[in-house]
Amino acid sequence: MGGTQYDLVVIGAGSGGVRASRMAAGFGARVAVIEERDLGGTCVNVGCVPKKLFVHGSQFRTDFSHAAGYGWELGEPSLDWSELRGNKDREIARLNRVYEGILGSAGVEIIEGHGRVEGPHTVCVGKRTLNTASILIATGSWPVMPAIPGIEHAISSNEAFHLAPLPERVLVVGGGYIAVEFAGIFQGLGCQVTQLYRGDLFLRRFDRDVRTFVAEEIRKKGVDLRFSMNVSSITLEGATRVCRLTDGSELRVDCVLMATGRRPLTAGLGLEGAGVALNAQGGVVVNEDYVSSVPSILAVGDVIDRLQLTPVALAEGMYVARTRYGGLDVPRPDYANIPTAIFSQPPIGTVGLTEAQARVDHQVTIYRSSFRPLKLTMTDANERTMMKLVVDREDDRVLGCHMVGPEAGEIIQGLAIALKCGATKADFDQTVGIHPTAAEEFVTMRTAVQD
Ligand SMILES: Cc1cc2nc3c(=O)[nH]c(=O)nc-3n(C[C@H](O)[C@H](O)[C@H](O)COP(=O)(O)OP(=O)(O)OC[C@H]3O[C@@H](n4cnc5c(N)ncnc54)[C@H](O)[C@@H]3O)c2cc1C
Repeated sequence: MGGTQYDLVVIGAGSGGVRASRMAAGFGARVAVIEERDLGGTCVNVGCVPKKLFVHGSQFRTDFSHAAGYGWELGEPSLDWSELRGNKDREIARLNRVYEGILGSAGVEIIEGHGRVEGPHTVCVGKRTLNTASILIATGSWPVMPAIPGIEHAISSNEAFHLAPLPERVLVVGGGYIAVEFAGIFQGLGCQVTQLYRGDLFLRRFDRDVRTFVAEEIRKKGVDLRFSMNVSSITLEGATRVCRLTDGSELRVDCVLMATGRRPLTAGLGLEGAGVALNAQGGVVVNEDYVSSVPSILAVGDVIDRLQLTPVALAEGMYVARTRYGGLDVPRPDYANIPTAIFSQPPIGTVGLTEAQARVDHQVTIYRSSFRPLKLTMTDANERTMMKLVVDREDDRVLGCHMVGPEAGEIIQGLAIALKCGATKADFDQTVGIHPTAAEEFVTMRTAVQD
């Protein structure tokens, strides 16, 4: 590595880039990280963290109404949106400073600006040219906006975090988790929400029972959820967005949020010029050690177009730092049984195979349970919780755990460890429940579902 200014130059200070750069520097490497927006990347600034804060903020309306069943009188609650948004901004600014501190104390040089690869060992930022042994591309992904007339009157999730004022009527377009989460946030905050998805049922990669169950629950909450429907154009009438839908009808709203997918962010990075192979989506093609077609250029996180999740980007960044700069022989990140949550209302937690995926290679037994959560029994709410286990009939291994209901993410995280350890249904059955909780249902489901 002698003769170069840096051992590693990282482009992008998001989840993957920050983790890789601070760990590599911790192992003694000379590291610079380039960031053109805010430290912490998507997750901290316009993703997981502010999204979850908004989910919390939007749940109080329901919580206040439930409180009445427990004897609390609160009067008519009202929301100060600018207070919520401002407090969220302050928390994010605090996290940006925390990231700056973490990188600084690890000895990473932070360079503000747009990084561009000029060659296998050269990166340019503004007028500076950095000479480095290796380059790590960790530039993340960017929302895709569909090419329909009037798309300039719609926003992406990036802008949804900074709306002023809070719109009264919102159209959310898309069937992925970001669309579902924002529909729930806006609904909870008191907006009138319509959600459209062009397919026959949203959340394509999830278990079908989960998808149908959560659709019903979301509708109960008041979201006007329409499938096999899309927007064909948007026009402005004053501040109103007049949306023409694919069935010919018209919908008038104050805000159109397009949550119609994200693509790896590689445009303008100079990668093709440097000989780095990209896939059809623009993602960097890497081998199992995250090395691109140019041996000195690596990539991790959303930009490699595998699983677009923060813990995955962290694991990939960590692997690169440990193996290349720590000299450690650690296992490669394992993409099997990665648990995920959707912070819809009610939320979804899931790990392992869906029933349909499991049926491809296994004979399966299905356990399913649906019930009214104890907390809601003293309220008017008719929300239900659903849990499902997919079990291999041959060796009794639990292949998938799925849940829709309060704290689904918290519950499924624990079950993910069990699946990682290869737990069987008998292991679940022999586990003593915690009573009274919803989670205990996962260890007390005894009767297989007859479909
Ligand atoms: C609305 C939303 C909600 C989400 N919720 C969750 C969730 O609940 N749980 C979860 O696990 N994941 C969630 N995600 C996904 C998660 O945010 C991403 O998977 C994660 O941030 C990917 O990390 P990364 O390091 O690959 O990229 P990012 O975090 O996107 O970081 C990339 C960084 O590179 C910078 N950059 C790009 N190009 C350049 C350049 N040329 N020069 C300099 N800097 C550049 C960008 O400004 C950015 O800061 C969510 C995403 C969104 C959009």
